Amino acid sequence: MMLENQAALVTGGGKGIGRSIALALAHEGADVVVNDIDREAAENTSEEIKALGRESMVVLADISQSSEVEEMVKTVLQRFKRIDILINNAGITRDGLLLRMKENDWDAVMSINLKSVYLCTKAVMRTMMKQRSGRIINLASVVGVMGNAGQSNYAASKAGVIGFTKSTAKELAPRGITVNAVAPGFIATEMTEKLSDEVKQEFLNKIPLNKAGTPEDVAHVVRFLASPDSHYITGQVLHIDGGMVM
Ligand code: NAD
Repeated sequence: MMLENQAALVTGGGKGIGRSIALALAHEGADVVVNDIDREAAENTSEEIKALGRESMVVLADISQSSEVEEMVKTVLQRFKRIDILINNAGITRDGLLLRMKENDWDAVMSINLKSVYLCTKAVMRTMMKQRSGRIINLASVVGVMGNAGQSNYAASKAGVIGFTKSTAKELAPRGITVNAVAPGFIATEMTEKLSDEVKQEFLNKIPLNKAGTPEDVAHVVRFLASPDSHYITGQVLHIDGGMVM
């Protein structure tokens, strides 16, 4: 097992891609803290991790709020004394054409998808710097690279995540910390379930491999980026999209 004795924090780990990542890290031996705002979902994931024989705890926190993020990281450090892996996964959509997009739809997406990445990274980086090691993996999106009508707020937040990933990778590399992003394409989760059949079909038409991805497809790549095998990779954006962007 590649991640034995490592402590990982997964934001939005209750459902979808975050849940799969939390389980994949636990399968590899990591103890995993599951953050979410959905208590029941987070507790379910945490129980699944414990059933694998790993340690796990739930921390309910809205990761767009600095005080909640600081408390969350304090709680993790009290329990595990270290943080080896941070997965900035939690994210939301508030889709709509720009003409009709409300300011609060813009602000909510930017806070939960982008500001949270700044807050969580800042909150763990001192610990990782002291450890002289760490892995930070951010969830971007193909939409942050290619844009998408009706998702200007979401695309801007995910493009921001990519810029943040590259900048922090440069800042933290001398301390032995790698920072990478993954850019999933169309993955079957609650987030994409909300899309109309027409939009789903439009996405599918753009995928050379001709099918939607699964949360596990993303989790396997994140597990690799969290592992010692990826130690010479930093500042990269790995696309997990069936060939949608190439
Ligand atoms: P999801 O909606 O299924 O799950 C997101 C989880 O985050 C939920 O459990 C939710 O409760 C939690 N969450 C939401 N706001 C939160 C907050 N403020 N604080 C803490 N937790 C919060 O979404 P998903 O499809 O699993 O997406 C996970 C990540 O992957 C997101 O960043 C998303 O943008 C990205 N992504 C998803 C797809 C896709 O096709 N599903 C594609 C590209 C990128």
